[in-house]
Amino acid sequence: MEDCLFCKIAAGEIPSDKVFEDDQLIAFKDINPSAPVHILLIPREHIVSLNEVDASHLELLGHMQIVAAQVAKKMEIDKAGYRLVNNNGYQGGQEIPHLHYHLLGGRTMNWPPG
Ligand code: AMP
Ligand code: ZN
Repeated sequence: MEDCLFCKIAAGEIPSDKVFEDDQLIAFKDINPSAPVHILLIPREHIVSLNEVDASHLELLGHMQIVAAQVAKKMEIDKAGYRLVNNNGYQGGQEIPHLHYHLLGGRTMNWPPG
């Protein structure tokens, strides 16, 4: 989609520090990390948020979680633990309207989040 930052990152039009990519999604380092390890996982398809997903996205959503676990292992945060977060809408703190999951690790996470 035009004028979508994450679509441009997925297309390689805006540089990113990628840690994984395949035909369905890419994972790259957050530019303003909230933890020692802070990775964003995004589908190549422009989906605004979880509000827009339906049964046609079953395989993609499952794949994203499997890749999140693989990236956690690659970043060596799997054993200590990590957090996988989706911010949805304005009260959920979503700033970029292209579906993404935050993979956070390398420090102890607070609960509940602020
Ligand atoms: P959210 O608030 O859930 O929409 O998260 C958006 C995230 O995207 C924030 O953590 C930002 O730091 C991150 N971000 C914004 N622009 C970029 C960029 N060009 N490269 C990497 N991460 C970015
Ligand atoms: Zn997009």
